[in-house]
Amino acid sequence: MDGCIFCKIVDKQIPSRIVYEDDSILAFHDIDPKAPVHVLVIPKQHITSINEVTQENSQVIAHIFATMPKIAQQLGIKDSGYRVVVNCGKDAGQAVNHLHYHVLGGRSLTWPPG
Ligand code: 5GP
Ligand code: ZN
Repeated sequence: MDGCIFCKIVDKQIPSRIVYEDDSILAFHDIDPKAPVHVLVIPKQHITSINEVTQENSQVIAHIFATMPKIAQQLGIKDSGYRVVVNCGKDAGQAVNHLHYHVLGGRSLTWPPG
């Protein structure tokens, strides 16, 4: 997708600190971390937001969640706990229009979020 910064990260046109990669997903450290551990997990294919998830493209969503424990283990937060956040649209403050899962951990997180 032209102009999408996360597609450029997938294509390695923009560098990132990758923590996990396979054929269909990529996980990398957030450039502006909101917790000691803040990683973004994305499908390599461009899906704009949760609103564009369909039965046809949902396999990669399942794969993201199936891989999440391995990523959390690698980051050292599997047992201490972590939060997975997806912002969708304006009211949630979605800034990058390429579906991404924030994985936050390494400290006690407050609830509810703002
Ligand atoms: P959103 O607000 O869309 O849910 O989250 C977008 C996230 O992407 C933010 O946490 C922001 O810090 C992160 N981000 C934006 N641009 C870049 C970038 O070029 N590299 C990395 N690693 N993270 C980015
Ligand atoms: Zn994209």
